[in-house]
Amino acid sequence: MSKIAICPGSFDPITFGHLDIIQRGANVFDEVYVVIVNNSAKNSLFSVEERLELITEATKHMPNVKVDFYQGLTVDYAESVSANAIIRGLRATSDFEYEMQGTSMNRFLNSRIESFFIMTKNQYSFLSSSIVKEVAKYGGDISELVPPVVQEALSKKYAQQKG
Ligand code: ADP
Repeated sequence: MSKIAICPGSFDPITFGHLDIIQRGANVFDEVYVVIVNNSAKNSLFSVEERLELITEATKHMPNVKVDFYQGLTVDYAESVSANAIIRGLRATSDFEYEMQGTSMNRFLNSRIESFFIMTKNQYSFLSSSIVKEVAKYGGDISELVPPVVQEALSKKYAQQKG
């Protein structure tokens, strides 16, 4: 039986921190579905379609990674692709508390699906989509934080907003 995991998140936009987690997950699992979970509580900069495109481009060198979008419960999506694992990244203790809540709820909803946490690499421990957007908005150098395709998309987005 192949080992299938999902890696859910907002990915608004995808960063090298996300990509590191996805790659390391893909080294362990046979297949990894990166899934954009549309969280209505968050105001996103990029549309779901734009995020799908960016993730697809950024992960195209990873043959066992697929990209998808889902509106609904993460555990239901996992079931729909026959996954029995959820991969999440951990940066700081604040992530830990947030993840404890999410994981407990997921286990309550579906105890067949196990959550796995991958500790970030030191160089990405400060990295988040929000900080990247903040830096990009004011013209800072983000080349070591996101892939070129995301850098380009951010420049375009903020140029549009200014113009
Ligand atoms: P969410 O809104 O679900 O937290 P994010 O896109 O912010 O979505 O994050 C998706 C996953 O990627 C989360 O598990 C998060 O902890 C992880 N992640 C985000 N940035 C990093 C990073 N720099 N290093 C490791 N994991 C990260």
